[in-house]
Amino acid sequence: MLSLQPGPEDAPFPCDDCGGATYVLRGGVRDGARDRAVYLAARTEGHRPIAIAVSLGRFGEGTGPGDRLVVTLLARLEEEGIELMAVDPERCPFECAEVLGRQLGRADALTWDGIDEVFQIAELVANQDPRVKGWLALTAMH
Ligand SMILES: [Zn+2]
Repeated sequence: MLSLQPGPEDAPFPCDDCGGATYVLRGGVRDGARDRAVYLAARTEGHRPIAIAVSLGRFGEGTGPGDRLVVTLLARLEEEGIELMAVDPERCPFECAEVLGRQLGRADALTWDGIDEVFQIAELVANQDPRVKGWLALTAMH
């Protein structure tokens, strides 16, 4: 059973491209008593989708960056629900710390057997971190 542990929010910074204020927040995902994933989410004013990066693998004592992989997703709300798209890491406004693991490009992410769990975790984050849920609501077209 996966459970969410919302974490801290970074100080906002301007987008490299358009200067829009970018907000980044963090959190963790536990599978029972075990740390399973770390996530970062970002919203930039003036951009429609939000970005969610998920670092999935083994955490804790005796583990290192080689025990996890990072996938970057763009997320937005459509009439049918949350739409998630795996993208290359350059498409996201923040840089993931090396300690989170190796970042996969879109093509590698889509053929990785962990991708289903990444999408599952991203949906959990989108539904259960109230901050991310609020950001997603802003991406809906009216
Ligand atoms: Zn921008």
